[in-house]
Amino acid sequence: MIVTGKQNAEELCAFIDSSPSPFHAVNTSAEKLSKAGFTEVESPALFNEEESVFFRRDGALIAISGPLKGEEAVRVVGAHTDSPNLRLKPIFDTNRNGWRGLGVEVYGSALNNSWLDRDLGCSGRLVLKTKDGMLEKICRLDEPVARIPQLAIHLDRQVNEKGLILNRHKHLQPLVGIKEGSSLLEKMAHSIDQDVQDILSFDLMLHDLTPSTLSGIDQEFVSAPRIDNLLSCHAAISALASIGSQSGAFTNVVALYDHEEVGSTSSTGALGPLLKDALMRRCSDASLSSEQSLVISSDCAHGTHPNYVDMHDENHQIFLNQGPVLKHNANMRYATDALGAALVKTAAEKANVPLQVFVSRSDLACGSTIGPLAAVNTGIRTVDLGIAQLSMHSAREMCGSEDPGYLQSLLMELFKN
Ligand code: ZN
Repeated sequence: MIVTGKQNAEELCAFIDSSPSPFHAVNTSAEKLSKAGFTEVESPALFNEEESVFFRRDGALIAISGPLKGEEAVRVVGAHTDSPNLRLKPIFDTNRNGWRGLGVEVYGSALNNSWLDRDLGCSGRLVLKTKDGMLEKICRLDEPVARIPQLAIHLDRQVNEKGLILNRHKHLQPLVGIKEGSSLLEKMAHSIDQDVQDILSFDLMLHDLTPSTLSGIDQEFVSAPRIDNLLSCHAAISALASIGSQSGAFTNVVALYDHEEVGSTSSTGALGPLLKDALMRRCSDASLSSEQSLVISSDCAHGTHPNYVDMHDENHQIFLNQGPVLKHNANMRYATDALGAALVKTAAEKANVPLQVFVSRSDLACGSTIGPLAAVNTGIRTVDLGIAQLSMHSAREMCGSEDPGYLQSLLMELFKN
């Protein structure tokens, strides 16, 4: 069943809050799929045609609906589980001028200023030593253990005129305390009832603790971290979970990748082999080369910022709550072409979902997504599509509260017809 409107946005908020790291996003998605009757398998080699299945690896997950009935074509929705943030260095305890801090790296193109003056928790995964080898466990600590305080204006009088310049090594060090005391790693281990001595290694990152919420005078907005791109993960997984085994002519697939924000070059990124392996094992050659086959690369789009209207092409203004956005770029930074756009427009009309069209100003470089990479990797026609948002790559982003439901309805239609 499709949940639309603000109820869908509220579900999205819960999905985001339970997914502070890519590993958690995969876990939240896996729980949703399991509840909908999907079976988890260890590898694509164990996919069989009778079941709806999924498998996960690190921060990535591939899910395929079944059983197949006269499969004609493949519909894939791709999205990414990672968002720009601050990640702990292997040896992260620092002591500068008598303050205890954390050594962090900036992951992806974060808006660095958005991490200042926030209460930060910690999440990710630990790899633990066991009697028979090792064990990977996700963990999260939702306590305000760290904060990066901004310099007072009295000591930086030009900041409002000249802008805030932050050195990533010097100025983004989160503070955790003053006196010698508890260790963060110990707290992370205890959060999952483990002993700190058993930690072999970790992937840990920081997250803002403010809960996601609907906002605005009539709750027309969603205010949340990681909207880029957990919004798409949520819509794709929800659409696939609700269509489940009622699929008809299409094999429906969701591919959630990690590492999009740093270029997708990893075993679990869009340039890795996961999706192609899965498609080769489950789909016929005829269906993969069908004109009806389509990869929908779903990622957020730039809504036109009312305070910076001239940053957009005047014929392609993008509004919140006016539906998903088809993204075009003649230089193929987005993969959409005329035939792909036509398939999406037809589905949007059928589902009664409004659609917008984005192209950048000709003198501005646009971002990119997993779309062109998926097209190269699978050979399937690909479109870039997504929901408009503001504050992209901020620790706290915003989008419209009607749009997540529109995206889910559109993806459902693309899975069905
Ligand atoms: Zn994105």
